[in-house]
Amino acid sequence: MRLELAYARTRQGLESLRMTAALDALDNVLEAARVQELPGVDVLDRLLEIELAARHDRRVETNLKFAGLPYRKRLEDFDLDAQPSIDPGVISQLATLRFLEEGVNVLLLGPPGVGKTALAVGLGIKALEAGHRIFFIACHDFVTRFRRAARMDREDRLLTTLLRPRLLILDEIGYTPLEQREATFLFEVIAKRYDRAKPMIVTSNKSWAAWGDILPDQVMTAAILDRLLHRSVTLNIQGESYRLREHRKAGLLPQAWTTQKEVPLKRSSSP
Ligand code: ADP
Ligand code: MG
Repeated sequence: MRLELAYARTRQGLESLRMTAALDALDNVLEAARVQELPGVDVLDRLLEIELAARHDRRVETNLKFAGLPYRKRLEDFDLDAQPSIDPGVISQLATLRFLEEGVNVLLLGPPGVGKTALAVGLGIKALEAGHRIFFIACHDFVTRFRRAARMDREDRLLTTLLRPRLLILDEIGYTPLEQREATFLFEVIAKRYDRAKPMIVTSNKSWAAWGDILPDQVMTAAILDRLLHRSVTLNIQGESYRLREHRKAGLLPQAWTTQKEVPLKRSSSP
């Protein structure tokens, strides 16, 4: 009778604490403990483990929904052999996510199609799986959303969206030139994240030297690059587009289209 009461109270307790995964597992865990003659602390340990794992998975799912990733390609699916300009050691370092803890920005530079976005997405998914919030935004969408926010006097809300996540991925800087107020807003995002040691992954088809072309003036360019590069790792990715390469391998493109040497980007002087 006493045991039945304790069992009923346990179920009730788990329910009111919304520990649904532990509640679902309760009977199995109790039965396993009985068969294996495990002590009570093992039952608690197992139930908590199950509940925490379920909560982690739910958090990852929710964060994934808000992340705005263009697709879900994992870092493990990135073909490093196809990209000899990338040091595999750097990728495995980044995969440990220490850059997130240390507030180090990751800057991926290179011509179109070499895998900058794919790498950013792969790292973003790693961060999500570790339980972090991330937000992915292409520069074009950044501009569109800023203009909309500015029209409605809601820049603050957009700023919060861009500051809150542990990791912000800003994809494809370089195609869209920024107007003064857009660049000022970008600077605010970058400077505030820098102050809070919250890192960014930035991809660009332009070398640092060419960032002056997309930003309105030199002072702004210098201020942005100063914050971005101070604690950063830069990967200069070179070579031909992965897509074109795959097409060529499939015999869909004439050789001459894809064998032109790409002009390597100027190496940045940052570490
Ligand atoms: P970028 O952002 O540099 O323009 P993407 O990351 O968009 O290039 O890559 C273009 C396409 O090729 C994507 O579908 C991407 O997943 C794929 N891709 C690029 N490089 C690799 C690679 N090394 N291994 C596997 N897929 C790749
Ligand atoms: Mg890209």
